[in-house]
Amino acid sequence: MAKLTFKGGIHPYDGKELSKDKPIKAVLPKGDLVYPLSQHIGAPAKPIVEKGEHVLTGQKIAEAGGFVSAPVYATVSGTVKAIEPRRVVTGDNVMSIVVENDGRYEEVKYPKVKPLEEMTRDEIIERVREAGIVGMGGAGFPTFIKLSPKEPEKIDYVIANCAECEPYLTSDYRRMLEEPEKLVDGIKVYLKLFENARAILAIEDNKPDCIELLKNLTKDETRISVKALKTKYPQGAERQIIYAVTGRSINSSMLPADAGCVVNNVDTIVAVYHAVYEGKPLMNRIVTVTGDAVADPRNFIVRIGTNYHELIEEAGGFKQEPVKIISGGPMMGFGIFNLDVPTTKTASALLCLTQDDVSRMEPSACINCGRCVEACPSRLVPSMLADYAEYYEEEEFLSHDGMECCECGCCSFVCPAKRSLTQSIKSMRKMQLAKKKKG
Ligand code: SF4
Ligand code: SF4
Repeated sequence: MAKLTFKGGIHPYDGKELSKDKPIKAVLPKGDLVYPLSQHIGAPAKPIVEKGEHVLTGQKIAEAGGFVSAPVYATVSGTVKAIEPRRVVTGDNVMSIVVENDGRYEEVKYPKVKPLEEMTRDEIIERVREAGIVGMGGAGFPTFIKLSPKEPEKIDYVIANCAECEPYLTSDYRRMLEEPEKLVDGIKVYLKLFENARAILAIEDNKPDCIELLKNLTKDETRISVKALKTKYPQGAERQIIYAVTGRSINSSMLPADAGCVVNNVDTIVAVYHAVYEGKPLMNRIVTVTGDAVADPRNFIVRIGTNYHELIEEAGGFKQEPVKIISGGPMMGFGIFNLDVPTTKTASALLCLTQDDVSRMEPSACINCGRCVEACPSRLVPSMLADYAEYYEEEEFLSHDGMECCECGCCSFVCPAKRSLTQSIKSMRKMQLAKKKKG
């Protein structure tokens, strides 16, 4: 049977064998917890605690700073040690709340919840908003906004993005194997919000065990089905998964809702499950700690705020000094130089490699082979866009749809001349977006 897919894409080495067969392990933080007030797209959260105050696990410590924003919760009990700028994974200094962990993990009493059937649409959305849930696949967009499109009756697809196409990452894979019921019950919340929709759990076909398990679990669910996607990067990118599942296309000026779709990744849907069925805010996430430099690569369930050093320690430390550390996967992640940073709501992986293939590459002139065009899932001409970007030819860049690039990295990956196409295009896009924001 033909597998669902999209045009373009690549097949990089996936490195998933390093961590995929080990169960998720819980990490109890030992040191201070650092909660940046900007862990999402939108206005920073505003602290509602003061230095010296005692806080409990699950207590709100910062409230949303605007409509597009998200509150932040303590993930341990302890004392607020400071509210000050702290270094985050991007290298920026971000205002943060620092909590000294008392090691007791005393919890608040979570609000009583009604059964899903008795909850109204507004109550569900409010619960998700209040829980501080944001897109945990990396985007960090507040989830309650995604769940509140202008015309909810026009949503006919809820897509659980279970592709996990990024190499090395296995957190969604383990979650699907270990907690499939939470994923399915989480999806039922979305179906309650979108009464005309059916849900598709879209999984790459390199995870046949997850496909079978979830098919069995949903065999009596008339509105939920499981679909196998062809394994190909970037199958899990929003536009590509929408196209693969529905045949509908969206561009950079459209939202998935414009194509009748709501898309969320596995961790986000499970966070919605905890918020709606248990009244719990977003306090932890699964992080894949992996790479050939790590002694015992595996997935950890991590309390947000936990220092990256502690994750490396939990994974047995380094067996060989890494030459490159990436936050996220090798395709969409970014290099980091300091592990003294906290785990945030959007931190999916810590990849530690003993070789840096990219920095060893010497770029040469384009040989017009066309491989970048063939690989581009957005149907662009990356070689040309990179030229426009490098020479700051803004009008040409825009008129040749440069803003439609999803920064997937496929063009750089296939280029035999080792041109840093994605990097050039990304820089120009960033500049254009900043200009647009400025008005
Ligand atoms: S131009 Fe953008 S979308 Fe196309 S392959 Fe390169 S990075 Fe991906
Ligand atoms: S893949 Fe590289 S060498 Fe080939 S056309 Fe694109 S930019 Fe030129």
